Amino acid sequence: MNRSPKKQGNYLLGLNQFEIHTAINSEFGDIPAYRSKQIYNWLYARRAQSYSEMTQLPAVLRNQLDRNFKVGSLKLAHQSVSEDGTIKFLFELFDGLQIESVLIPSEMRDAAGESRRKTLCLSTQVGCPLDCKFCATASMKLKRNLTAAEIILQYFEVERLTGEKITNVVYMGMGEPLLNYDNVIKSLRILTDPELEIIGAKRITVSTSGLPEEIKKFAHEKIGVKLALSLHATTDELRSKLMPINIAHPIKELLAAMDEYYKVTGIPITYEYILFEGLNDSDADARRLAKMARRNPSKVNVIPFHKIDFTNPKGIGAELHPTSNENFIRFNEVLKKEGVHVMVRSSSGEDIEAACGQLALSKLPHPIAIEV
Ligand code: SAH
Repeated sequence: MNRSPKKQGNYLLGLNQFEIHTAINSEFGDIPAYRSKQIYNWLYARRAQSYSEMTQLPAVLRNQLDRNFKVGSLKLAHQSVSEDGTIKFLFELFDGLQIESVLIPSEMRDAAGESRRKTLCLSTQVGCPLDCKFCATASMKLKRNLTAAEIILQYFEVERLTGEKITNVVYMGMGEPLLNYDNVIKSLRILTDPELEIIGAKRITVSTSGLPEEIKKFAHEKIGVKLALSLHATTDELRSKLMPINIAHPIKELLAAMDEYYKVTGIPITYEYILFEGLNDSDADARRLAKMARRNPSKVNVIPFHKIDFTNPKGIGAELHPTSNENFIRFNEVLKKEGVHVMVRSSSGEDIEAACGQLALSKLPHPIAIEV
């Protein structure tokens, strides 16, 4: 599946150094390689927003670039700030479609009370085709894939708008990253290029609903990012109801693909598990989950279910409820007793529909939103 935007003009952003070289040489001929390298650095390391800023380049080249290539940007359409400091950004793309990105401060504070970790949650598609019954983005269906530039620009725009140093990135916003495989890989290669000093691969997590072929391919890309599997159920019967993609790719296949990811990369695996009352929150579920997690060095991220009533879910989606606090604690205790490394994901931004699975552009503006 590679639904690309129809028309967006010529951009250099999103291209790697080699592609920049090819693009400018096919327009102007005979530009030396070190010039392409300078442009690459201006675009990504120095986050240039215009060619006139690229003062190392000869004026003639700057003018040529300006005439032939657009400088990409995302338009901020709206921004909401949560009581817990989470900020949700609604960006408008060149074709008028919209996506969301979320900046989440961690609860860890330094001596001055500032949050030490700022995690950016990026979108990879406009909407999502996968129809997971608990996820608000599913209600949008898939509009299109994001380009590599649009993925990278979420990082640059959030950094510019907030003035914050982003310390961690999660590919957990709208969309299924592995269904936009090529652009996701491109964006990862640029964001993690050591020469650009943007962010280290170890600080990035890509989350997938579970596409075994793509997971195995991803393992061999040598990018070094963490991979998280949205598991959410320990039986195929329940998982297929919650995540229809499981019908084509059952749990056994997924776990085998995750085994390969660990075997090839040596990077511990993350399993994500939302707790739904009465469905997947029993001790037996916890023990089955522990058995799966123990196959490889891993951690399990236990996630409270964030309500998605605002999307008017039907069928099983309408019957999902968060598990009680008591059950949540008990479930984690069983996992720990079984030797699992458990992390509890906070519900940062839930009050502004910016928490996991709540991105659907459907409830704006929010009462405590700040209009821009
Ligand atoms: N498509 C990818 C990434 C986007 S979802 C994936 O499926 O992993 C990011 C995470 O949020 C996933 O673990 C997803 O299952 C979880 N999520 C989706 N809806 C949620 C909800 N309503 N409450 C809590 N977590 C949710």
